Amino acid sequence: MARRIPEPFRIKMVEPIKQTTPEYRREALQAAGWNPFLLRGEDVYIDLLTDSGTGAMSDRQWAGLMMGDEAYAGSRNFYHLADTVQALFGYRHTIPTHQGRGAEQILFPELVKRCRGDKPLFLSNYHFDTTKAHVEIAGARAVNVLTPKALDTETAYDWKGDFDLEALEAAIGREGAHNVAGLIVTVTCNSAGGQPVSMPNIRAASRIARENGIPVIIDAARFAENAWFIRERDPDYAGSSIAEIVMEIFSYGDMLTMSAKKDGLVNIGGLCCFREDEDLFRAVQVRCVPMEGFVTYGGLAGRDMEALAIGLKEGLDASYLSYRIGQVAYLGERLREGGVPIQTPTGGHAVFVDAKRLLPHIPAEQFPAHALACELYLEGGIRGVEIGSLLLGRNPQTGEQEPSPLELLRLTIPRRVYTNDHMDYIADCLIDVKRRAGEIKGLTFDYEPPILRHFTARLRPVA
Ligand SMILES: *Cc1c(COP(=O)(O)O)cnc(C)c1O
Repeated sequence: MARRIPEPFRIKMVEPIKQTTPEYRREALQAAGWNPFLLRGEDVYIDLLTDSGTGAMSDRQWAGLMMGDEAYAGSRNFYHLADTVQALFGYRHTIPTHQGRGAEQILFPELVKRCRGDKPLFLSNYHFDTTKAHVEIAGARAVNVLTPKALDTETAYDWKGDFDLEALEAAIGREGAHNVAGLIVTVTCNSAGGQPVSMPNIRAASRIARENGIPVIIDAARFAENAWFIRERDPDYAGSSIAEIVMEIFSYGDMLTMSAKKDGLVNIGGLCCFREDEDLFRAVQVRCVPMEGFVTYGGLAGRDMEALAIGLKEGLDASYLSYRIGQVAYLGERLREGGVPIQTPTGGHAVFVDAKRLLPHIPAEQFPAHALACELYLEGGIRGVEIGSLLLGRNPQTGEQEPSPLELLRLTIPRRVYTNDHMDYIADCLIDVKRRAGEIKGLTFDYEPPILRHFTARLRPVA
């Protein structure tokens, strides 16, 4: 194994986290209805629920918070942010938003309005869940055209976030280009496990869209991680800087939506930016005012925009990215060595444990990956999240629980928060859980909410 990349920072301030006993955790989980979402954050030792808004800001970003110019309109921090967007992505027009979904809610209705056909849809390598929701709220359909290689968890393939280009062309042919309101390029592909999209694939998908008069939107939450993978895996880019790769990626888009809570290295914020389409920019600004706030703050304080302007630049630092993605890979490596089945290769922000293979005796309707999440909490106070049948829900037509094709436990790593010692601890705990896998029981509902049930469901182990 290559030499481990240590943290490229030193720790100036610490937040003590609570160590708990197994008895304490059992009581806490019981009180939370065997649903880690309902645990108090304080009762969690290592929180791997999400990498969204959970990162640590740098000393420079904290200093930036003191520089907030809280002008309602036209604050200095807005201009710093807009200049940073122009310098990094080459986009002239910036609208700040409260987070990624804020950008989606003001942009998509305008794209649907401009769509020439009467059966509007968006095409994407994979729509993130809020992205799909906002496409549908805007009256369009969300169609994914992801490479089938993404579903094969056991085979390593460098670009599991890629578009299936043939399926993309076929979808445009079938639906008619006039009905396609936009092509959404999600980098990295969150729903496929933070897997990267290759540069030739982005280029080709964009060319297909542009030849058909379809606008290209980059869903940019993890743009820097995607750029790092391109430099690492594509020999054509081995000599490029991350900044050059980022600039090329965005040259293939006409606009971007961004959740800044990921690679933007802030706890709250988002962006909606346009390369040059002034008309569209003005129309989206009009939607911004009643939904997000005036056009130069979009739901953010001046200080938030300052921290984001700084975070966007810090996020491109190659030694930070090597450490960041190396840490995720290191956790994956430790688990693989310990015989815990995981999705390979690991992506940019998370390790996905294959609960179907670890707990083959638990059927889909007893939620094996959720049961594994509960056991990991009991074992070591670690909180992961199920991506499987509990999340999928029932078939709305038949009311039946359908088995999800994958039953995964996602261990999402916050940025610059935990050390590699924490990764060792996580791996040790999960390997201990694996040793007693045969004794782990599935779960059944005490309370099943009608929709989005994974957030608030209450469960108990089957007898
Ligand atoms: C997080 C995310 C979003 C939504 O952003 P929020 O900041 O959570 O509103 C959209 N797309 C992708 C790919 C994401 O990861």
